[in-house]
Amino acid sequence: PQNSQNGPQLDGNQLVAKSLSRLGVTHMFGVVGIPVTSVATRAVSLGIRFIAFHNEQSAGYAASAFGYLTGRPGVLLTVSAPGCVHGLAGLSNGMANTWPIVMISGSCDQKDAGRGDFQELDQIEAVKPFSKLSVKARDIKEIPGCVANVLERAVSGRPGGCYLDLPTDVLHQTISESEAEELLTSAAEEQSQLQKLSSGSGNVVSSDVERAVSLLREAQRPLIVFGKGAAYARAEDELKKLVETTGIPFLPTPMGKGLLPDTHELAATAARSLAIGKCDVAVIVGARLNWLLHFGEPPKWSKDVKFILVDIDKEEIDLRKPELGLVGDAKKVLEMINRNIKDDPFCLGKSHPWVEAISKKARENVLKMEAQLIKDVVPFNFMTPMRIIRDAILGVGSPAPIVVSEGANTMDVGRAVLVQTEPRTRLDAGTWGTMGVGLGYCIAAAVASPDRLVVAVEGDSGFGFSAIEVETLVRYQLPVVVIVFNNGGVYGGDRRSPDEITGPHKDDPAPTSFVPGAGYHILIEAFGGKGYLVGTPEELKSALAESFAARKPAVINVIIDPYAGAESGRMQHKN
Ligand code: ADP
Repeated sequence: PQNSQNGPQLDGNQLVAKSLSRLGVTHMFGVVGIPVTSVATRAVSLGIRFIAFHNEQSAGYAASAFGYLTGRPGVLLTVSAPGCVHGLAGLSNGMANTWPIVMISGSCDQKDAGRGDFQELDQIEAVKPFSKLSVKARDIKEIPGCVANVLERAVSGRPGGCYLDLPTDVLHQTISESEAEELLTSAAEEQSQLQKLSSGSGNVVSSDVERAVSLLREAQRPLIVFGKGAAYARAEDELKKLVETTGIPFLPTPMGKGLLPDTHELAATAARSLAIGKCDVAVIVGARLNWLLHFGEPPKWSKDVKFILVDIDKEEIDLRKPELGLVGDAKKVLEMINRNIKDDPFCLGKSHPWVEAISKKARENVLKMEAQLIKDVVPFNFMTPMRIIRDAILGVGSPAPIVVSEGANTMDVGRAVLVQTEPRTRLDAGTWGTMGVGLGYCIAAAVASPDRLVVAVEGDSGFGFSAIEVETLVRYQLPVVVIVFNNGGVYGGDRRSPDEITGPHKDDPAPTSFVPGAGYHILIEAFGGKGYLVGTPEELKSALAESFAARKPAVINVIIDPYAGAESGRMQHKN
């Protein structure tokens, strides 16, 4: 807009887009509509890639995974109230997984708030339990500063979610270009100040590093555990150095897999119970001692184990009360540990009884699993197709595909069978065990790592949460192959015993069942993608070979025996 008195003018939409672009945002995920459509189109015209979804939930999951994969906040754009509420799924998922995400939502006119305006909600309050910071730009002049603030806070300290509220009236206000320029410059300065403040290595003192090294040196059965916080910190080189100079066995969490290759000779993955049950000192890097690691307690862990925790978040360390806590960035803390070891190196060596015990157990377990995997079982169980998929993924070589995994049995079996050889190549249901993340994660992975193929291995239930986003795959022509393990429902459809099938609605389908033999492959064909229906090893191999080579959106519908697999996967005790 042009205003004759004050020279060229910008409106709020333009200023939001300019602020995002100036402060380093390259991608956005979202669903447009009143009042934010123009924010998206302006952002695109400034060179930001906007990936438009069908549902804010998937867009939010995508933004959270983008934050994890790139180390920069994933930005989610939504409309007011209902859009914001749908987006909470992504924001909260980012918080739970400690991934940086910024949700930006339009909101109703400030003067009409409280009077039942169109799509009215107190969004600042609604997002509070799911964010580190929530701010509202109450005037156009506040926009650049607010954008800088949320982007920075999302990545500082423990990464997480931040929220920015943009009232409709603020998006329609105007400001002169010259004033906007001044505000943008000072926001960029503020951003770099904040970056400097948060770039230290935390509060780690050298005496603590020394203590950590001497605990490891004196341990009889040391173990190095690492998780997605270490992956986020890009600590792979430092971990490799630590493991290889000391000869200490290591155990990745599900998303830590790949920081060091699963095939590494010191990998304790296949001897997990022995490793955690018998270790006497465990250094835990960027992973929480939560349910995924059995809270660090007996009977899974020995009661005398000494934990050394490395985490960016002091509160996390205070919560777990370890033998020793090192608060700081995983990469930097490991660098300090490696430097300390270098002065007086030690290495367990292959013939150390602990290393031998772990590698013997791992070898035995791998052989046991291979014996199960090698059989071609038709109709498919979970193992046979998973082996074929594993081999196809390994056949791609480097850069390795990013694997997205969700479902109960599909994710459990996949975690054990699929092999990760490169960092940050596995995305799964994560800390919250969130189902429905698959398609959003696939899209984020494909745009964050354009040189990698993306392969989703998911249950039919997980796929169904956001199946319409296959249209998004086709629209952007993303190199994503979605493999659906189709067993006709949650845990495999109707598994009720006859005495459970009573009452006036006994003829309804079971709460766990979907239409048997659903044609998920046809869904993507409706939009011009490629679909495959497979039920035998030959059909699956051929579909994988063709779709991996094509690097185009595809859905492979793999028909699984509904009686294969267990209810609730390996979490039966909780259902
Ligand atoms: P996993 O699911 O792999 O076990 P979690 O999500 O439970 O991992 O834990 C990740 C931990 O990593 C969180 O406690 C988080 O505070 C921490 N973290 C995040 N970023 C960093 C970093 N740069 N350096 C060290 N720790 C980090």
